[in-house]
Amino acid sequence: MFINGAWISAESGREFPSYNPASGEIIGMVPDGEAIDAHKAIDAAAGAFPKWSSQTAYQRSQFLYRAHALMMEKLEHLAAVMTEEQGKPIQAARNEVRYAADFLIWYAEEAKRIYGQTIPSDRADQRFIVLRQPVGVVAAITPWNYPISMITRKVAPAMAAGCTIVLKPAEATPLCAKAVFEILEAAGIPEGVVNLVTAQTPGPIGELFLTDPRIRKLTFTGSTGVGKMLAREAAEQMKRVSLELGGHAPFIVCQDADPKRAATGLSLVKFLNTGQACISPNRVFVHEGAMDAFINELTRRVSAMKAGSGFDTGVRIGPLVNEAALDKVDRQVRDAVAKGAELVVGGRRMTEEGLDRGFFYAPTILRGVTPEMVIYREETFGPVAPIIAYNDADDLLAMANDTRYGLASYVYTNDLKTAFTLFEGLEFAIVGINDINPTSAAAPFGGMKESGLGREGGIQGLDDYLETKLGGFSI
Ligand code: ADP
Repeated sequence: MFINGAWISAESGREFPSYNPASGEIIGMVPDGEAIDAHKAIDAAAGAFPKWSSQTAYQRSQFLYRAHALMMEKLEHLAAVMTEEQGKPIQAARNEVRYAADFLIWYAEEAKRIYGQTIPSDRADQRFIVLRQPVGVVAAITPWNYPISMITRKVAPAMAAGCTIVLKPAEATPLCAKAVFEILEAAGIPEGVVNLVTAQTPGPIGELFLTDPRIRKLTFTGSTGVGKMLAREAAEQMKRVSLELGGHAPFIVCQDADPKRAATGLSLVKFLNTGQACISPNRVFVHEGAMDAFINELTRRVSAMKAGSGFDTGVRIGPLVNEAALDKVDRQVRDAVAKGAELVVGGRRMTEEGLDRGFFYAPTILRGVTPEMVIYREETFGPVAPIIAYNDADDLLAMANDTRYGLASYVYTNDLKTAFTLFEGLEFAIVGINDINPTSAAAPFGGMKESGLGREGGIQGLDDYLETKLGGFSI
């Protein structure tokens, strides 16, 4: 763990293993932190806050610029740690490290543009000034699916705003977190500003984050259930919360779209990270007129996808994170088939030579998915594309919006009016129009409805780390 500028063991001396999900092998041990260790980290962050928050934005930026340069220098190393620990193909891991580094440089620049405001008063002797100040010590909890970029997406804006941080990464990917903090350390960030507590059991640390009054803000990326619990408990001390939770993205292929292009897009975005992304398409609505061409192209592409270790050439499908994730995907597929869906390809655990010790699920296409099936409502987090035929464009928005989630959505159309109608009518905070990658460090990412609160990235990504203070001056 990295606390107050030093690498230390857990108070208990205990450690826990990290595994390679492609082989089931143990790849390293990390300290198993508990509340007592998190307490030390909060002490460090609270101690560092007065000095860090009073540095100028220009000074704070320098550390972020340095961290960015170091992250780009160490790109290969970080990508290799990620592929080994999380399983994604090495090229995807490299892309994620670049995305992670983008947050460091974006917020190095944006730190200098945390502007206030002056407001005219109706009293001649009065002046109003609005000041933006850091909220204080931030607790951050991050997931395993994007184990490096989800850390910088929180740490960079927090540092830019002048906050200090205690981060608890996912128990499945502590080595990725350690590798990021080695870079933050090498960037010379003052001690106590960024602190890392690894732990196998997150509950007691989450509890401390919620009850220690020095934590003024909690930022969380993970499952909707845990996010809701954290939001409820955070209300007790009225802590600020940012939540980036689950999704159930619709992927819409309109009658006028190019079905081959749409199928290519789906084959890329659906199977990215083996479907383990909150913005992964979960319901693919295809107009009946485009269906055959779409399915043919998709099947051709999906059938050719190679599964295996992310280090092997040509591998597109890495393992799922663990056995429970495999079971969940398989249960959804069986439920859909039992209720009448057609299995076009896939639909099984892969146990061939070389895959038998990892958590591999064959890339799957289900056709004829209906609202009665579990997969129509529940997030999948796996390599399954559920296809739903539609006929009447008037029903489309209601069908797409019929979910408690509101994170990402995708539309393929060549008609400008359709594009605008769907862009404006979809109750999702991210809409890709003929675009499967509507994300960037410069753009706001987050969810409507039960997909979360607040936005990360872009200028909006700073808001949640800042308080707004009004000064009224009588002269
Ligand atoms: P997933 O199902 O994707 O693993 P989780 O929400 O369980 O999603 O995990 C996301 C992050 O939340 C991880 O860092 C995990 O350790 C953490 N987490 C899980 N349960 C709790 C909890 N009760 N309190 C605090 N953090 C938690």
